[in-house]
Amino acid sequence: MKYATVIINIKGLGVKTFSYNIPAEMENVIQAGQAVLVPFGRRGLVNAFVVGFTDYVPEGIRVKKINKILDETPLFSIKYLKLLEWAANYYCTDFVTVLNSAIPLKLIEKNSKTEMSVEITPMGEQILSFGKTPKECGITKRQLEILGQLKVFGKISLLDFEEQSKTTRATMKKLEESGLVKFNLEYIYRNPLTIFKDIPVEPLYELSDVQEEVYQGIKKKLRSPNPILLHGVTASGKTEVYFKLIKDVIDSGKNVLFLAPEIALASQLTKRLAKKFGIKDVAIWHSSISDGEKYDVWQRLYKNEIKILAGARSAVFAPLQNIGLIIIDEEHEGAYKQASPAPRYDARVIAKRLAQFHQAPLLLGSATPDVSSYYYALNNNNLFQMLKRYNNAPLAKPEVVNMQEYGKASYRGIISKPLQTEITDAVEGGKQVILLMNRRGYSTYTQCKSCGNVIECPDCSIPMVWHSDGKKLKCHYCNKEMSMPDYCPSCGSDALSNSGSGTQKIETLVKELFPKYRVERIDSDILTKKNAHIELLNRFQKGEIDILVGTQMIAKGLDNPNVTLVGVISADTGFSVPDFRASERGFQLLTQVAGRAGRGEYKGKVLFQTYNPDYYAFQTAKTQDYEKFFDTEIKARQEFDYPPFSQIIRIILSSVNNFRAEKSAMEIAMRLNTMTEKFGFTEYLETLGPTPCIIAKINGHYRFQILIKNKLSQKGHDFVSKFLNKVTLPKDIRLAVDVDPLDIL
Ligand SMILES: [Zn+2]
Ligand SMILES: [Zn+2]
Repeated sequence: MKYATVIINIKGLGVKTFSYNIPAEMENVIQAGQAVLVPFGRRGLVNAFVVGFTDYVPEGIRVKKINKILDETPLFSIKYLKLLEWAANYYCTDFVTVLNSAIPLKLIEKNSKTEMSVEITPMGEQILSFGKTPKECGITKRQLEILGQLKVFGKISLLDFEEQSKTTRATMKKLEESGLVKFNLEYIYRNPLTIFKDIPVEPLYELSDVQEEVYQGIKKKLRSPNPILLHGVTASGKTEVYFKLIKDVIDSGKNVLFLAPEIALASQLTKRLAKKFGIKDVAIWHSSISDGEKYDVWQRLYKNEIKILAGARSAVFAPLQNIGLIIIDEEHEGAYKQASPAPRYDARVIAKRLAQFHQAPLLLGSATPDVSSYYYALNNNNLFQMLKRYNNAPLAKPEVVNMQEYGKASYRGIISKPLQTEITDAVEGGKQVILLMNRRGYSTYTQCKSCGNVIECPDCSIPMVWHSDGKKLKCHYCNKEMSMPDYCPSCGSDALSNSGSGTQKIETLVKELFPKYRVERIDSDILTKKNAHIELLNRFQKGEIDILVGTQMIAKGLDNPNVTLVGVISADTGFSVPDFRASERGFQLLTQVAGRAGRGEYKGKVLFQTYNPDYYAFQTAKTQDYEKFFDTEIKARQEFDYPPFSQIIRIILSSVNNFRAEKSAMEIAMRLNTMTEKFGFTEYLETLGPTPCIIAKINGHYRFQILIKNKLSQKGHDFVSKFLNKVTLPKDIRLAVDVDPLDIL
């Protein structure tokens, strides 16, 4: 091949691809994945990555030569690039967009860190072993002490040692000059896990009979090309089964990728993995580790020095070698899908493909599986269940507080008498309480009592939400803020009032009702401070908080045996969203949050406050009966051809001009329909719309959507993707494609 295709990270433009000539002397050494130096316009020599080779470049292009190969060890393989290419095709986006999000940009510019290490010399050892007095050796008493400490540490980073033994560089220099210690300049990996370095390695737990049976069953399925699903109720002990499987895989010389839906959960998980398998073999990957750490982990992954990689969504793109098992825990979580910007990928879909590449099994786990995952596992005979809690602790059965009955007598119409009593009982008994309110802010909308006008964001077609902390109205879509107007912008009346409840209001009310209890709130508004979320959860874990009020964030993974009461302030919230996944999401949230109660030796209680006690998804969440929920839900999905009976592809056209956005959407829908007819696909490719999106305007852009229900699997997908490739649009129209969207709002 004559030319190399390289990617260059251009400031302000992101990653772009270019072609360069391969000089003769590089022909035999150049490989995809290598970092190279290339001339680039007025910028002079810049860093680039080789991503492919070609014999031809378009005519008329003057191709320059690659200047130098920076590092002979490639940072990714051809196989890896193939996966990215596949993802770009599946999500109807271009390769560079996927590459951009998969490979941390700064890897291209950053270099590894070289650090000084220190160790004791034989001469230093002699002094210690002959037990001489400091005076005899011509050094101070303190210096002798330091020498003793260094002997204990062995070879160690100089910086670390200076910190540990509270000494200075000057002192260390003197010891070096006397020939008692030796400095070495060498490469030391930054390991984000060093905070766990004092944790001793523990043996794996013995499995219970149920766990053992499931473990043996899954082992027999490890060659299955389809995902395996472990459906285990909350606190059933899924993790112990995972760990046992991990041990088998790493003992066989292969590696494990383990995904958790969120950074906080991935960190918790990594700590547990490090405890069981040692920090040397475990690494963590998520969007918040530093670029330097990413660079180091990336290199170690590529050199096959890591056996277990734990991480959040983006870890599915980390270049882990020789994969023998992929585990996705809490697989039902929406956080596995990147909603925006492109690539709008789902880590579960990528993981399935990755598993096929490595001929490794993909194991999904959840207490409330995604309806589609459950359907496929059931039909492929790949479903495993653990429907009792570990140690047979009973699942807390939720009780329903019908607010049609209790509403009026409640505190400010929101916290019912039964809930108040249970809170008092729990906290007075030294236990802890979780209160779920799945909306942030203080109220949910501000309305004029005279004319009924609701204050909307000027740029988005949704109500502004009052936030009591900053005393501002905020838009939850574009983050616009404004102060509360004195008069109604529509009729001029001053009768504006806040209605509905969010977490801030619940926090305020609970503090009013229980002034002596320690109450804290957790929602994404507190996340502006780094690690605030983890710190709050740690304090809750240590018993420093009596009542934790929060959004769905508190429903996830929290394992505090001292929590005996979970209260859901408004259990109806999620179910009323106009989306085909609303019942599923509502069911999952209520079941997960109920699972936080009574995980230890104390019996748990769960209270759902609702105005809709008869709704089916709500009834099944109450009994935590997944199978019953699934049976009803799957019938509805089949009737309306929703996933798993079709694949949804959503196309959104938006523009600052309402009319032009609608016109483009209509044109595209029309062309799509014509093509579908021409190919005879009409029956299997249903096109709905265009219709204005339920949230018709975001950030000043009017939005129209076309929904495609594809019942032709790969063939239908290829058809749509080819069609979209040919679409050209005027500059003022934006097109977004979302394959398998999380919602259709
Ligand atoms: Zn008004
Ligand atoms: Zn807005």
